[in-house]
Amino acid sequence: MNPYALLIDGKRVETASHAEVKNPSTGDTVGLMPLATPEQLDLAVEAAARAFKTWSRTADAERKRACHAVADIIAANQEELALLLTREQGKPLNGLGSRFEMGGTLAWTRYTADLTLPVEILQDNNEGRVELHRKPIGVVGSITPWNWPVMIASWHIIPAIRAGNTVVLKPSPQTPLSTIRMVELINQVLPPGVVNVITGENSIGAALSAHPGIAKMTFTGSIETGKKVMASAVATLKRLTLELGGNDAGIVLPDADPKQIAQGLFWGAFINNGQTCSALKRLYVHDSIYDAVCEELVAYAGTIAIGDGQDEASILGPIQNEMQFNKVSELVEDARTRGGRILTGGARMERPGYFYPITLVADVDHGFRLVDEEQFGPALPIIRYSDIDEVIDRANSLPVGLGGSIWSSNIEKARELATRLECGIAWVNKHGAIQPNAPHGGIKQSGIGVQFGVEGLKELTVAQTVLS
Ligand code: NAD
Repeated sequence: MNPYALLIDGKRVETASHAEVKNPSTGDTVGLMPLATPEQLDLAVEAAARAFKTWSRTADAERKRACHAVADIIAANQEELALLLTREQGKPLNGLGSRFEMGGTLAWTRYTADLTLPVEILQDNNEGRVELHRKPIGVVGSITPWNWPVMIASWHIIPAIRAGNTVVLKPSPQTPLSTIRMVELINQVLPPGVVNVITGENSIGAALSAHPGIAKMTFTGSIETGKKVMASAVATLKRLTLELGGNDAGIVLPDADPKQIAQGLFWGAFINNGQTCSALKRLYVHDSIYDAVCEELVAYAGTIAIGDGQDEASILGPIQNEMQFNKVSELVEDARTRGGRILTGGARMERPGYFYPITLVADVDHGFRLVDEEQFGPALPIIRYSDIDEVIDRANSLPVGLGGSIWSSNIEKARELATRLECGIAWVNKHGAIQPNAPHGGIKQSGIGVQFGVEGLKELTVAQTVLS
């Protein structure tokens, strides 16, 4: 089996040791991940710092053209990348799986390529002229998770380089191969050193986030690790964007139509098998339609084919890794022993791989681990409520605040209630839908800063005011 290599200064760099990356559907080895040494990390940061000298001064139109060239080369190789992504991540090729992820990667890349941050003239009169410039920051360190590895890597890379920064990227050790391959491809159309990739175990992520040559960290992952990245930033006061975990609430009002909303609720919760930061993770349903919503969800869940991601018929795949599989199993077991009613699913599927069925659990409440903790997998707790003010308070009672949603046939009322949710992104009659022009980020412990659109691009810059 050919080992993968690091990509530093536009060149493949071999490592002395590797770790196997396994397919969660089968347990087969997909490829060998290079284990970078601290010295190789230094080389990557040095290469990015050298490239920054010219890339930061490259004409804006040229950087825009280069980002479109990145999109073109990814587009030309998207099926190869999708297949590799499916093999290491587990998500199906079809449905909202790896081909969908490649489509998202391209849509965000092209949209972000076309964004600009022109100089703002704040004053221009007899008393003087004040200009606000947005300048690149330097070398950006990027650390990504295993759930949407390619798309999230593009969310980190493209705004960074569009604004004139250079990047050292470290993907998750669970899903590094599709990112390495994507970076190899985009290096064919970018100057050497603009985007570098290093891989290894978690310790190399810690070394990257503590590296004095990194001016800004963009991190997507768990709250626990995000706090470590934030602590590492202190010594050199690195800029930070942290996109962390959540425990999104969805609230179904009594006037919603259970049949009409069932499919939206289902995909809000189970997109990517629930392994999505802003998936619906706690569903509150009004007492008057509780049973009807449960029934519709169970019926729709019964239509979803779960299987090996490489099978074109699969709509959902396995859980990505053993740790997450164990966590989902534990939380469901805890709910069952404490009186939760399993409407469907609830026990591992009898086949190799980390397959766990879609699991809907009724008659649960706060105080159950399945409600209080981010399950990040295919298990959804459904909580009964009767008072709207009280349910909003309960939805807001956790220390996280990524997304939230209100489901109702009265859009105006739903919009007003959505603004009362303590979260960075609120939806009406949908959940988890994201788009490249809508800033995305968490509040409370779900993160710092936003990604996407002009607001996201600004986070890859520092402001400079020029007075004359
Ligand atoms: P994780 O925190 O375990 O790992 C994320 C990345 O951090 C990996 O690349 C890992 O190798 C690296 N890492 C681990 N220890 C480190 C350390 N000490 N210093 C620096 N880097 C380190 O998260 P995960 O399990 O890969 O991803 C799942 C989590 O990510 C969930 O909580 C999910 O909600 C969150 N997430 C958030 C968003 C968002 O946009 N808010 C998007 C996707 C995932």
